[in-house]
Amino acid sequence: MNKEQALEKIAREIIACALCKKDGTGKAVPGEGSPYAQIFFVGEAPGKEEVKIGRPFVGRSGKFLRENMRLIGIDEDDIFITSPGHYLPLCRAPSKESTLHGRTHLLKQVEIIDPQIVVLLGNTACIAMLDRKVEIVSEHGKTVEKNGRKFFITFHPAYAMRFPEGKKLFLRDFQKLKKIIFSGLQ
Ligand code: URA
Repeated sequence: MNKEQALEKIAREIIACALCKKDGTGKAVPGEGSPYAQIFFVGEAPGKEEVKIGRPFVGRSGKFLRENMRLIGIDEDDIFITSPGHYLPLCRAPSKESTLHGRTHLLKQVEIIDPQIVVLLGNTACIAMLDRKVEIVSEHGKTVEKNGRKFFITFHPAYAMRFPEGKKLFLRDFQKLKKIIFSGLQ
């Protein structure tokens, strides 16, 4: 099985997964992108726009995120983007239980793609991938290693859009990310 087929298999597993659907609604959003992506973005859970069409980060915060990727020179065709939540949460944010379940699928996607860096957008992404609550305000802009993999911590784009100070720091983090990606700096 090649990487593309392996990712399609995971997407089918997500779509068929009753546990993922348990506390959510809409169309499943399994994530999308290049099987050869060097940058892997992790969010929280899809919003209303995403679950209409089953694609991640296509609503307001997604447009903001994608625009900022473009501004630092990341080609959207060279990334993979997904979230531990695969449906619109029935409560405002996904529960810890559903985040920890959702990550089982996510870990397989990361394993298949084996990116240079995983960008964690907000606290839910950190809980899913680092297994701990992160104070984003103090740890944003940092690269951490876990199990031999590099993770870059930043704010969720929805937070950055809501708070001017959050936006300033998010944009600064993206400049750091640019350096890491394009010149291998840490
Ligand atoms: N926000 C997220 O965290 N994930 C999505 O897929 C869309 C918006």
